[in-house]
Amino acid sequence: MAYNKTMRMTPRRYRHHSQSTQHSWLRRRVPLAVLLVVLPLATWGIIAYAHAQQQSQAAKRVADQKIAFARIDAQVKATLQKRIDDARKAEAEARATAAEEASRRAAMTKPSVPLASTADGTNCGVDSPGAIQVVINKKHCFSPLDYVPSDLVSLADVTLRSEAATQYAAMQNAAIAAGQGFAASSSYRSYQTQIATYNYWVSISGSAQADTYSARPGYSEHQTGLVVDVKAGGCALDCFGGSTQYGWLQQHAHEYGFIERYPAGLTSITGYTPEPWHWRYVGTATASDMKIKGIQTLEQYFRIAGGDYAG
Ligand SMILES: [Zn+2]
Repeated sequence: MAYNKTMRMTPRRYRHHSQSTQHSWLRRRVPLAVLLVVLPLATWGIIAYAHAQQQSQAAKRVADQKIAFARIDAQVKATLQKRIDDARKAEAEARATAAEEASRRAAMTKPSVPLASTADGTNCGVDSPGAIQVVINKKHCFSPLDYVPSDLVSLADVTLRSEAATQYAAMQNAAIAAGQGFAASSSYRSYQTQIATYNYWVSISGSAQADTYSARPGYSEHQTGLVVDVKAGGCALDCFGGSTQYGWLQQHAHEYGFIERYPAGLTSITGYTPEPWHWRYVGTATASDMKIKGIQTLEQYFRIAGGDYAG
């Protein structure tokens, strides 16, 4: 009650003065109040901003790290996958090589053609076709039939096995020096060539007639790479038998390891009619020994069956 009474009794002027003092006091303190409000707000704002910046940078670092880790992870995975792939590839290659090697070995141990048989069914396979003294005749064929010598060499007029070629060249040079030079008309003939040769003669005179002068494929001595057919003065085959060059060979061929393979009068033993042009290399020891002993055929010298295909 006392308060209300005083208020009521305060003069308007006084009241006005008192209000004005109050206003100016407030006015003076407004900046301070503003400052007191703004400063903490600003400080808080700066701190919050800095914190936010820090947070975002940290988040960015984490994200960057995650990307880096993911990249490393992918690289490791790719490297491991490559190693696995390489190992698998190497394994597959090794398996393929092994299979190839196995099939190559199988092909080597297995004759490419079955053993041939004579007309009467006897096995004719000669299992050492590479021997210098091998006997190939109508009862002894190559095994395998398509045997190819491993050391064939080609000179000016012949293709023979290395040793036979050297000796042939020496013999030919000696003959030329003696004025009895000759040249080769035929030497090594492959199984395939003999097929064509034999079939040609069969087409000309029939198989029975062809068999007397042309070997069946796999039965030709020319396939040994140790045989040379010679010619001189335009005279090959039969007429060569009447030449002086033939006479020189009969006297000297054994010195170089060659023999006349199908001499006259011995068809029943060799299986072939005389071929004065057909010379066979057997090595100097064998050729000289045959000469000394007066043995004219390999069949007689080695006691091996000869003659015709059958019988
Ligand atoms: Zn011949």
